[in-house]
Amino acid sequence: MDAETLRAYLEYYQDLGIKTLYRRAGEPLADARGPVIDGRGSVFDAPDVTEPRPSGSVEPLFRILEDIGDCHRCRLHEQRTKIVFGVGNEQSKLVFVGEGPGADEDAQGIPFVGRAGQLLTQMIEGTAKKEGIPLLRKDVYICNVVKCRPPENRTPQPDEMEVCGQFLARQLLAIAPKAICALGSTAAKYLTHSKEGVTRMRGNWYKWNDIPVMVTYHPSYLLRAYNVGPKREAWEDLKKVLHFVYD
Ligand code: URA
Repeated sequence: MDAETLRAYLEYYQDLGIKTLYRRAGEPLADARGPVIDGRGSVFDAPDVTEPRPSGSVEPLFRILEDIGDCHRCRLHEQRTKIVFGVGNEQSKLVFVGEGPGADEDAQGIPFVGRAGQLLTQMIEGTAKKEGIPLLRKDVYICNVVKCRPPENRTPQPDEMEVCGQFLARQLLAIAPKAICALGSTAAKYLTHSKEGVTRMRGNWYKWNDIPVMVTYHPSYLLRAYNVGPKREAWEDLKKVLHFVYD
């Protein structure tokens, strides 16, 4: 790889918010597959392309899944059962991003299949139906910032999000949706770099790499929320994003 191609790669990853790049020990810089990105010094096979993706080429999702492999890049692999990559329509105009898998997702390898997932499905399908938009859960794409369940459902740590976030970034670039809906504070902060709380962010548009991001509450929070205020607000947020994408 020549210096110009390498520079384009580095700028591209920087634009995605990926700040740390590692080179495999003993590997020459001029690796035709591009720089190795990894958070903990272990191996990550960089995309098998000779041109940087800023030039417009898009990789398929299965390639990203192949790259994830039997991932040991961060400590979250230690207690996971299954990697939870993502589910839904790979050509969807709308992608929902959550925080990370819980117990049900870890067992099944599918995002948002537990109680919070059932509520998310109801929210998507119920709101779409009320608004006259023919849309089912299977028509959108759903994934998380981290792909392995954090122990005791704790919030993912910044280094775990940095390592795993590169795969989220690649998923979003591959799908290239018209909008992203960030579910809860972790996804919202990760995608937008905002330091605001989710209560302030929700209902507002932000951007990830030029793609509009709508922030709303995480369905787990809505399951716990005792008053109807947040539920009504989440419904308003969802209406906003659905009309933006599908009108
Ligand atoms: N919560 C999340 O953030 N993601 C899931 O997949 C399930 C619950």
